[in-house]
Amino acid sequence: MTLSTSLLTGDHHVHSTFSDDAVSTPAENLAAAQAVGLREIRMVDHVRVSTTYVPEFLAAVRALPTVDGLTVLTGVEAKILDASGTVDAPPEVLAALGTPGGPDRVLLADHQVPGPDGPWSPRATRERIEAGLDPADVVEMLVTATVRAMHAVGRAQLAHPFSVLPKIGLTEQDVTDQLLDALADAAVATGTPVEVNEKWHCPGPRVTDRLRAAGVLLVASTDAHQAADVGVYDWVRG
Ligand SMILES: [Zn+2]
Ligand SMILES: [Zn+2]
Repeated sequence: MTLSTSLLTGDHHVHSTFSDDAVSTPAENLAAAQAVGLREIRMVDHVRVSTTYVPEFLAAVRALPTVDGLTVLTGVEAKILDASGTVDAPPEVLAALGTPGGPDRVLLADHQVPGPDGPWSPRATRERIEAGLDPADVVEMLVTATVRAMHAVGRAQLAHPFSVLPKIGLTEQDVTDQLLDALADAAVATGTPVEVNEKWHCPGPRVTDRLRAAGVLLVASTDAHQAADVGVYDWVRG
């Protein structure tokens, strides 16, 4: 991978106790970011359409002490629900993106496959493929939904793109250059950064090289769920 070292001074996807599967507070994550010398950290927690804690989360992040040389950004992580690009986030949070009362960005996640009728679990998707659904159609649906979600949200970031593929028996090699170019065009048109994600080991060099060549902003992320992992890169660095 040819990420410049300066990218590794940012961590654009860090979870806190506002996510039910993470253990560190925003203050602990901030201290960890300072300790490893990060210059940028994006604090992010999981939401669904029914989530109500976002104002409290944003207040907690904005109440953190200022650290010289460290920019603190915010976001919420939401899955892409269906092929039309609907996002599983509260409408008022989406409406407030980029304003003083809202998070900076929505991290679009492929936790499930966005099907025409709603999210497909990896298992349900594998069963459809075994029953004859063309994997190429699944990949196209995933990329199309992601492109639509980027345009619909306006201020997105792609979290661990293509992390769902191994779960459904596919790899990034199943994504055509044409689909990668469609993804890149949408990311450039909407100013959407794309993560290179330490936790999920994706996307790989072929995808990142092609996106970068198209002018997409790549950002490094750990997807840390504990402060000890903030800003610590092994796979991304390698
Ligand atoms: Zn995720
Ligand atoms: Zn995450």
